[in-house]
Formats: sequence, C-alpha cells, structure tokens
Amino acid sequence: MTAPQPKPWIQAIAPYVPGRATTDDGRKVAKLSSNENPLGTSPAARAAFDGATRSLERYPDASAAALREAIAARYDLDPARVIYGTGSDELLHLAAGAYAGPGDEIIHVRYGFAVYEIATRRVGAVPVIAPDRDHGTDIDALLACVSDKTRVVFVANPNNPTGTFLSRAEVARLHAGLPSDVLLVLDQAYAEYLDPDEDDAGLALAMTEANVLVTRTFSKIHGLAAERIGWGYGPAPVIDAMHRIRAPFNVTAAGQAAAIAALGDEGFVEATRAHNRHWRDWFEREIAALGNAGLVAVPSKANFVLVRFTGQLTAEAAYHGLMDAGYIVRWLPGQGLPDALRITIGTEKETRGVIAALRELAGAA
Ligand SMILES: *Cc1c(COP(=O)(O)O)cnc(C)c1O
Repeated sequence: MTAPQPKPWIQAIAPYVPGRATTDDGRKVAKLSSNENPLGTSPAARAAFDGATRSLERYPDASAAALREAIAARYDLDPARVIYGTGSDELLHLAAGAYAGPGDEIIHVRYGFAVYEIATRRVGAVPVIAPDRDHGTDIDALLACVSDKTRVVFVANPNNPTGTFLSRAEVARLHAGLPSDVLLVLDQAYAEYLDPDEDDAGLALAMTEANVLVTRTFSKIHGLAAERIGWGYGPAPVIDAMHRIRAPFNVTAAGQAAAIAALGDEGFVEATRAHNRHWRDWFEREIAALGNAGLVAVPSKANFVLVRFTGQLTAEAAYHGLMDAGYIVRWLPGQGLPDALRITIGTEKETRGVIAALRELAGAA
C-alpha cells in the first residue's frame, strides 16, 4: 500500500523557523528575535480589541469594510482596492498563488524574507535568487534575473533580515526595468519606521501602475502581531484575483477592531518610531565601537540591526552567549547568514543590556 504523497515542490520547502521566545533551558528572557514592538500595543487598540470580544459566536465582517475604509482614509487610497490578510504573510502567498504556478519563476533577493521562498515553492514555482550588493538589494542584478518565465518579484523595503533600504529613485528604476506582465510585490512591513521624507513611493506606484502590489502589516510598528493582520494595495484586477483564493473570514473581528483603533493612534506610532530611531542609532554607534573585535552593523532603516561577526567572536558563540545573558536574538545560518545575528531594537534596558553582554563576550573571545 502506498501512502498519500505530498507534491514534490511541497517536500522541497524548508519550514519557516520562527523567532524563539525561550532559551535552550526553558528560561523566558528578553525576546529580540521577531521584530516586535518593545513599547507594546496602542492603549486605544487594546481597548477596541477588548470591546470586540463580546459576540464570539458571530463571524467577522468578511469584507472588512470598516478596516478598509480606515486604511483608505489614512493613506488616501480607494477602499475597494485594499485587501487584508491573516498577516501580510497571507498576502504574499495570495500574490504567488494568483500569478505563478509550476514552471514559472519568482525572484527574490539573497538575504530576503524567508516567506518568499516558501510562497514560491508552495505553488510549484521556481525561486530565482538575485545576488546582493553589500547585503542589500542590487537592482541591476535583480533585473538581470528576469526571464520570460518570471511572474512575480518580491522585494522588502526596508529589507528583512538586513535592514537595508532602496530609495524612491531605486524603486522607480526597478519598476521601470520590469516587463509589464511581471507583478512587483513591494513588502513594506517596516515602512512606518521610516521618516516621512524617506517614503519609497511604493503606494504611489501601486495607485497608478498595473503591476505593483504593496503589502503592509499591523504586526510590527502597530504592535498587533498576535492578531495576524496585514493589508495590501494594488490595481483592481490584482486585488480581484487575490480575493478569489483568499480564505473567507481571514481577519478576526477583534483584530479588525484593534487595527482600526491602532491606525487612529498616530501618537503611539510616532512614539515607537522615535524610540526606535534613537535606540537604533545608539545601538549602531555601540557596535561601531566594537569594530576592533570584528563586529560590523549593516546600516538599518528598520527596527532591527544585522550585526556581522568577522573577528574572534563568532555569531554562533555570541548567539549562545547572549542567550545565557538573557537575550534571544536571531541567528540565521539557514538563510545563508551563519556569520550574523539579527537583533531587534528593544526597550532601553534591553538594548543597553544586549550591548553590555556583547562587549563582555567580545572582550573574552
Ligand atoms: C514581519 C514581516 C512580514 C509579515 O508579517 P505578518 O505578521 O505576517 O504581517 C512580512 N514581511 C516582512 C519583510 C516581515 O519582516
């Protein structure tokens, strides 16, 4: 008797490895491994969430009408072209599923977000990996990967796990260089961490171009990771295609209510952005001061910093040393970065603590 056989392209997927919350010996320590908001959640969002948990027997609004209206009002968009997902992760899967299948190619950059390869393989498409430049996205190298089989390009801006950033001019150049039948998915999970004048104009492209989809999330700056809410904006035909394969009722009622309130709490977002900017700058200066021990920070525009270990102290040793000291960060050998740690900017106490621990580890190595 033969057992059911998963499709070979499913078997080829290396499962996503989430950031850890506990140490090897089960201690719960500072979690700096998943780019969550160290300031928590907007109090207004929490109150809206609590208020929405009264009628658990009812399905949520399947069209997420109030959420789409709130997003459209906040960013000056057409609510009919706003799509929502169980995290923006779902939207990445929907984009791949609607536009690519067996034999097609989907491009992402080396050191890109781990979900891109999973979303690509899930639909039987072939991942094509564009070489990086200094850990960041190299537009020319990426465009050189385009073939007549290319259907989708995934680019995160700022990028995870590197924190690198493409300017508005570079994003425009990328879009201009792509064939018009290739869908450019601009993943802006960290866009809210940018200063307003750093906007890469992705949403403006998604408003006017027929082949640009922007994705955003409530998981990062809005501090709603537990509720799994993302949203996207693109041309009507793209949104229509994605809706066809979206799971019904994919965003919870309490999540929708919390997200609407979170959007309205500009003060919380601004406080988070300011906290992040201050402590990321401080963190990068402190890593620079450890340069003689071989530590090098990749300049970041996000809420984390990729630190490379090029001296005596290895990333692996630092990862375990930090865990012993009470900090869980992300070591990414599975993503081709065995010599680096991605460290989320935490509270002041956590950020100072990580640097103190790294200084000690570097001194002892
Ligand atoms: C965190 C992250 C996401 C998505 O998170 P969701 O919680 O699924 O919305 C998407 N892209 C990148 C680059 C991320 O870092």
